[in-house]
Amino acid sequence: MGDAVPVSTLERKLTDAATADAIDAARSALLEEVDASDVGDHRGHQIDGLRVVTHLFDCTRRGYRGWQWAVTLTRASRQRKVTVVEVVLLPGSDAIVAPAWVPYRDRLLPGDMSPGDLLPVSDDDARLVPTYSFGDDPLDADDQAQVRQVAKDLGLGRVRVLSREGRDAAAERWYDGAAGPDAPIAKSAPHHCYSCGFLVRLAGPLSELFGVCANGDANDDGRVVAHQHGCGAHSEIRLSKRQQPQPPAPPVIDTISLDDLETF
Ligand code: SF4
Repeated sequence: MGDAVPVSTLERKLTDAATADAIDAARSALLEEVDASDVGDHRGHQIDGLRVVTHLFDCTRRGYRGWQWAVTLTRASRQRKVTVVEVVLLPGSDAIVAPAWVPYRDRLLPGDMSPGDLLPVSDDDARLVPTYSFGDDPLDADDQAQVRQVAKDLGLGRVRVLSREGRDAAAERWYDGAAGPDAPIAKSAPHHCYSCGFLVRLAGPLSELFGVCANGDANDDGRVVAHQHGCGAHSEIRLSKRQQPQPPAPPVIDTISLDDLETF
C-alpha cells in the first residue's frame, strides 16, 4: 500500500481503533479544504502518539505527483468523537521536492567572489587564532573588541593568524589540488619542483612541503606548488638529440632544366 508506514510494537500499543478507523471523517475534513478532484485513494495511516493518528490520501492535483494529503485526527480520553488537528500536503517518497537548503557560506567556492564582495570571517572560525591571549577569564564581545583595539594601537601586528587546523586544511587542499604531486602535469613531468631553479622557497611550517613557482612560462607561475609537483618547464630540462628541432635541408639548385620566364 503506497507509502503506508510499517507499524512498530510501540505503535501497535498506541493504536487507537476509533481514530484509525475514522477514514471517512478524515476524508470529509480534507474535502472541506480542497477540491474532491484533488483527492485520491486512502493510502493508510501512521500513529503519531496516544490517540493521535494521521491518515494519508493521494494528491491528484496536477504538478504534485507523489505528494500526499495528511489529515491528523485525535480524540479525548473516553470520547468516541474524533477531532481534526490539521490538514497538510506532504511530499511522499516519489515526490519532486527542492534540494535541501545549503547556507551560502557552505556553497561558496574559490573563484565565486567578485570585485567589491565582502566575506566576513566569524570570531570563532577554527582556522584562525588570536595572536594575543584574552586570558583565562571569559570576556564578552565588547571586552574582546577593546583588547583587539589595544593590541592594534600598540602595533602588535596581525590580530589573528592561522591556527594549526587552518594550516593543515590549507596544506591538504594544496597538496591534493592542481599543484600537488597527483596533478596530470606533475605525473608526466621528468623532474620535481624541489630541484627546479624557479622555485621560491617559503619560510615557516608550510615551507617543508611547498614553495612558489616563479617561472613566467609555466602554468603555475605565481602559485604555491608542492615540492613533489613538477612540470615540463623545469629549469634543468634538456632535450635529447632526437627531441631537438632538425635543421632545414639545404636548398636544391637545378642546373639542368630551363625555367620559362615571362617577359614584359
Ligand atoms: S617551472 Fe615547473 S617544475 Fe619549476 S617550480 Fe614551476 S611548476 Fe615546478
